[in-house]
Amino acid sequence: MSRKIKPVLYIDIDGVLLANETNLADGASQFIKYVADNFDVYWLTTHCMDGKPEHAIEYVNRASEENLTQWLEKFKPTIWSLKKTDAIDFSQPFFWFDDDCFTEEQRVLRDHGVFNSWIEVDLRKYPDQLVHELKLLNEYI
Ligand SMILES: [Mg+2]
Repeated sequence: MSRKIKPVLYIDIDGVLLANETNLADGASQFIKYVADNFDVYWLTTHCMDGKPEHAIEYVNRASEENLTQWLEKFKPTIWSLKKTDAIDFSQPFFWFDDDCFTEEQRVLRDHGVFNSWIEVDLRKYPDQLVHELKLLNEYI
């Protein structure tokens, strides 16, 4: 049994769930199902900045052989424009999965003392990184 507080998850698409425009990352469909079933998950991607998740769902599904809609629909939309950190609720513990966190966004994370909440995904170096991140997340279930 875990005593850790379950974090909220913020998830980017390009370079995280998708290795490229036409392919899911290794382990991404398992990752998507697991987080959708076990965590409070928010989109944090340029494909969903206006509070409407339909495009993000379609964009990920397009790269998947399996229809992931029922899980992707559990991801909640966010609203932001210049900085993704504007969409983050800093009052709760969280993990933010992103391959590309801008300098200004990194500064905001540091200002809140939560720089380590950013999980830097680097699929070029670690193509199966999501498989390993699932093990980390499992410690919170
Ligand atoms: Mg990205």
